[in-house]
Amino acid sequence: MGRKIHDLTGKKFGRLTVIRSDPTRYFYHVLWHCLCDCGKEVLVDSGRLKKGATTSCGCRLTEYRQSLQESRLKRCEQIQALLASGHNASTAAKTLGITPQRVHQILNGRKKVV
Ligand SMILES: [Zn+2]
Repeated sequence: MGRKIHDLTGKKFGRLTVIRSDPTRYFYHVLWHCLCDCGKEVLVDSGRLKKGATTSCGCRLTEYRQSLQESRLKRCEQIQALLASGHNASTAAKTLGITPQRVHQILNGRKKVV
């Protein structure tokens, strides 16, 4: 077709290092095999790489979710400690600067996790 491929081999996009191109095309984009810093190989199209839309194999999002989960658990422990020392949901909420509804949400979320 004569369409020149802009070679991205060896280039780094966030956590991804481009290893080689793939013979298949994603619409008019070239698909690239990329190695993530975590060791996982993923296939990303050139458009997403250049736009910066994809910067990891997905582990970045997983880490973000984990940190959210951890902070929720920490919050949950704080609430439980307050409740154990005689607070109720609304005074515990006031102490932590959150709404009583949030306290219930966090406590209910905990039940699902365990
Ligand atoms: Zn990764």
